[in-house]
Amino acid sequence: MINKERLLHTFLDYVQIDSESTHEGAMAARIAEDLQAIGCQIFVDDSAAKTGSETGNLYCTLPGNTGGEPILFAAHMDTVVPGAGVKPVVENGVIRSGGDTVLGGDDKSGVAAIVEALRTIVEHNLPHPTIEALFTVCEEVGLRGSRHMDYSRITAKKAAVLDSSGDAGKIITAAPGQYKLNAAVIGRRAHAGVAPEEGISAIQVLCDAVSHMNLLRIDEETTANIGSISAQYATNIVPERAELVGECRSRRDDKLEAQGQHMMDCLRTACGRFGATLEGGLTKSYSAYSYTGDDPFVQEIIAACRKAGLEPSLAASGGGSDANNMSANGLKALVLGTGMAKVHTVQEELTVKNLEDTAALVLALAVTSEG
Ligand SMILES: [Zn+2]
Repeated sequence: MINKERLLHTFLDYVQIDSESTHEGAMAARIAEDLQAIGCQIFVDDSAAKTGSETGNLYCTLPGNTGGEPILFAAHMDTVVPGAGVKPVVENGVIRSGGDTVLGGDDKSGVAAIVEALRTIVEHNLPHPTIEALFTVCEEVGLRGSRHMDYSRITAKKAAVLDSSGDAGKIITAAPGQYKLNAAVIGRRAHAGVAPEEGISAIQVLCDAVSHMNLLRIDEETTANIGSISAQYATNIVPERAELVGECRSRRDDKLEAQGQHMMDCLRTACGRFGATLEGGLTKSYSAYSYTGDDPFVQEIIAACRKAGLEPSLAASGGGSDANNMSANGLKALVLGTGMAKVHTVQEELTVKNLEDTAALVLALAVTSEG
């Protein structure tokens, strides 16, 4: 039922609008124009000061014409670098860039699919609950848009985030949360040859802490790593400051919490043992989410896949997306494959078939979810 020609045309248009992270202004204006034209209500939040973008996140609402639970569809407007001056080429059913930029199918495949599904719904006056479409900024630079968005604007309790590699039909039911660890140990400076007993070696303290940490593979759903340790002094100085940067991830928030606290405990204990002090600590990059196959929303998406003629498949992800922030803010958010492939490289590609399938899936989900 979707208009395949219009969909491809829209996608090719969108990828030619430059929107590297923080430069999403023109892209937001174009989506707003396209969706306003079919009767969507448009809102832009005031997150720009916090995200560093030219624009806020874009919220579009198509009021329902039947009952049923509202549903949110989301995609991010920004692309990674090099994403300016994209010249898309369609060859044998595959869309690529000219080879000197990314294609930007991450995530304009999601954006175009949502816009086409909404156009189709309006054009054919299909029955649907209230549909909310959210287009975020700065996803590629730390999920900033979804972190600083205005969740009070969203009435839906469930969200389909169109932002994964893998063919249309792939459903990401679990993704890890992440803690970043930025810590510094402060010891005491002294002459290493004349009066070492007056010093506290920050390097020694830090190494003691790290040697007591459980790292790398903690369990099937939890990992931890130290990426950097830095301190540089002459050998005749007892080093007073040493810094550490690390991370941990888990698909379960309780395990993430436990691993983060364990790493902090090792640092605190070592500092206590040597009389050093600790600065810094953990910051939550994003929260984990995990849903089982029998979750009602997962079941709803599976049914929509079948209705769209797609084979559903469930998978877990190793990375974060806007869905992590949405989940942390009370939305049931799942990420769906759009067919984007080789993302973040200049070889990025997308098949026309996947673009069509993704739009058909969004349409099936939007119309199915009338309850
Ligand atoms: Zn993406």
